[in-house]
Amino acid sequence: MDKNFPILVVDDDIISRTVVQKYLAKAGFEVLCASNGKEAMAIFNQQFCPIVLTDWMMPEVTGPQLCRMIRETKTDGYVFIILITSRDSKTDIVSGLEAGADDYLTKPIHQAELIARINTGLRILKLEKSLKRANDEIRLLSITDPLTGCFNRAYLGEQLPQELSRSQRYQHHLSVVLVDLDHFKKINDTYGHQAGDLVLKNIATCLMGQVRTKVDWTVRYGGEEFLIILPETDCAGAQIMAERVRMAVSNMRIQVTETQIQVTASFGVACVNFRQKQKPAVTMEELINKADEQLYRSKREGRNRVSVMEMLAAIP
Ligand code: GH3
Ligand code: MG
Ligand code: MG
Repeated sequence: MDKNFPILVVDDDIISRTVVQKYLAKAGFEVLCASNGKEAMAIFNQQFCPIVLTDWMMPEVTGPQLCRMIRETKTDGYVFIILITSRDSKTDIVSGLEAGADDYLTKPIHQAELIARINTGLRILKLEKSLKRANDEIRLLSITDPLTGCFNRAYLGEQLPQELSRSQRYQHHLSVVLVDLDHFKKINDTYGHQAGDLVLKNIATCLMGQVRTKVDWTVRYGGEEFLIILPETDCAGAQIMAERVRMAVSNMRIQVTETQIQVTASFGVACVNFRQKQKPAVTMEELINKADEQLYRSKREGRNRVSVMEMLAAIP
């Protein structure tokens, strides 16, 4: 854990506050000071401080009360709190720890002990950071398709219903585009499964590159089927987008060993137009089924094309 974050020191007594500040600054830490609990919370809410050193006895908000306030605040990560006290009776220490403090120091502050306790806090924060990183990685693995890097069906089932209810609440449009590669079986049969995989990867990259980052998202819906979710996009917008993707796919030349593979895809677009706030809402399954019907129309009518339908939802 580096020292690129401030330690918040809270004490109503200027002398002990200055002493702690000096010790910490000497050890290379950036320090923010507050002379009471209220000021401390104002600073804390402005700038996240993962280590807080607070005096116990302060007017208005005491150290243990400040601990509780910090614990009730939603933060970016764990906050290691050290209570500084001139009390060292066991019951006081227990009540401080119960209020949410991680450790305590008794006055007068001993410089080496202070730094040693801070280092304990840093070890815990480092551990928390690495656990969080591992959790984030696991989460990402659980929602993405390993071959293409698109989102998977599990993520679709989690997110699309939310996306739909958000669109309904704000009466926005929402479109989905189902993409199915044309005669993909032939690619596998002709060039082998590995070449097929490479084509899928390239197509996925192309699809993800065509959508608005942060707003639209792409799912690997099946073997060679992808679903693109376009929030706040009406029928006309979705059609233009699907047409653009269709062109991009058909213009791709995917290099596999000595040969260049060219593929096309068929598209089925379904859009919901939430005109009124009332129910019944459109379900995810209904929306995808509509896109699927359009996809099959594109296949029937000769492939490498886009078919669109609009659902007028929630109209009595
Ligand atoms: P259509 O134009 O009617 O969609 O024809 P198609 O051949 O694309 O459709 P079909 O559903 O008959 O075949 C899909 C093929 O996709 C069959 C399967 O071998 C292939 N496929 C599915 N998943 C993967 C994969 O992960 N890797 C590779 N290489 N091929 C896959
Ligand atoms: Mg298919
Ligand atoms: Mg296909």
